Amino acid sequence: GKRHAADSMFLRGFSDLVESVVDIVNQRTEYVESGILERLAEPDRVVSFRIVWLDDAGEVQVNRGYRVQHSNAIGPYKGGLRFAPSVEEGILRRLAFEQTLKNALTGLPMGGAKGGADFDPKDRSKAEIMRFCQAFITELHKEIGPHRDIPAGDIGVGEREIGYMFGQYKRITETFSGVMTGKGLEFGGSCLRREATGFGVIYFLEAMLKHRGEAIDGRSAAISGAGNVATHAAKRFAQTGGKVLTLSDSRGFLHVPEGLSEEWIDQIVAAHDDPGFRLETMAAKVGGSWHPGDTPWRVACDIALPCATENEINAAAVASLVDNGCTIVVEGANLPLTTEAREAVRAAGLLYGPGKVANIGGVAMSGLELSQNAARLHWSEEDLAQDLRRIIEEAHTLCVAHGGDDKQPDYERGANRASFIRVAEAMTAFGIL
Ligand code: NDP
Repeated sequence: GKRHAADSMFLRGFSDLVESVVDIVNQRTEYVESGILERLAEPDRVVSFRIVWLDDAGEVQVNRGYRVQHSNAIGPYKGGLRFAPSVEEGILRRLAFEQTLKNALTGLPMGGAKGGADFDPKDRSKAEIMRFCQAFITELHKEIGPHRDIPAGDIGVGEREIGYMFGQYKRITETFSGVMTGKGLEFGGSCLRREATGFGVIYFLEAMLKHRGEAIDGRSAAISGAGNVATHAAKRFAQTGGKVLTLSDSRGFLHVPEGLSEEWIDQIVAAHDDPGFRLETMAAKVGGSWHPGDTPWRVACDIALPCATENEINAAAVASLVDNGCTIVVEGANLPLTTEAREAVRAAGLLYGPGKVANIGGVAMSGLELSQNAARLHWSEEDLAQDLRRIIEEAHTLCVAHGGDDKQPDYERGANRASFIRVAEAMTAFGIL
């Protein structure tokens, strides 16, 4: 009753979980006795802090930063940092909660957290971004540590920003540790971390199709976003014999009816940190068209892969996808479907892979990066690709086991149940406090 409005997003996610697991809780008296659901409804800790930095003109800039530590029941807090003007506590509470469930599905020992700042990196110089990252860590370093809370990237935070932040942490604490993931290869980063979320989305899609005796070959996908997740999902989809029809950004979408080749996708990946790069400039080069102010969901496609941001598909977009022959939706982004869109996807009987399991590849590879840091080793790309595929396939199997073992399992329910049991068992084992 007293909750702040910003919590509504959290509560929506939480009530979805409750719906999926209520029968499990009612059967396990220990879960009721130790108040597992009541405890999961509150993040362990929410830290909020001011960030002060100087822009290139020498003017003082002030931003707000956050870290939501949701649960460390099965391992140290782990989750991304987001730099975007839309960042506020409510969305981070929801994402931290989702991260707890997601991390449990990787089978690796990681709890859930999320953080970031309301800083807009767009049109900021490299030097400004560096100073902001340093100022951010000057505050956040008090809350994190290699056995405590291990941040990673998310929207607006890629390898470059992780480098600046890791450097600042190292400077302040005089330690070189696995305190952050997504690091550069020269200082403890892992092969395939950059690719892992996007590749993992396609591995999950392949697992879903294989479960029905089908495969990707020749099918087409509308993909949104042109960032880390979107471009690597596109690359893997093209490598697997699929046709990538679209990519997009906040300005519009690129439509390539013949399919975007791997080589062009590589060029877009390479341009990621270039502030002057505009996706629309690719249209002429790749023989496609640019659609300003529009989203890719009205293009005829077999599969939709939303890989940009929250709430990017509404019910009308689902209707348009269905009308145009789309039968599968797999989420690379976190929470890209509005509540109404999710209902529409269910009502239309689409095959649906929710982000809470389909995009675990990034955090899974982060877990493997930590293993390498702890062992002071560097594993090969081939070994890591195998590990990633195994983790995704095992998560798929778990979702099928808990989501109804027919040709079209309820992956969301399966993911919620499987991850909840892992977290709840650990919490129960620790006793009540
Ligand atoms: P990036 O910052 O690399 O890319 C984000 C992309 O989405 C950009 O192309 C951006 O365009 C576009 N975008 C952002 N906001 C909007 C909008 N309102 N409308 C249309 N397009 C938009 O982020 P990531 O690729 O890392 O993350 C994308 C999603 O995947 C997020 O939901 C994130 O939480 C999720 N995710 C990321 C993981 C990772 O490992 N990176 C792991 C798991 C999930 P523009 O440049 O114009 O803003």
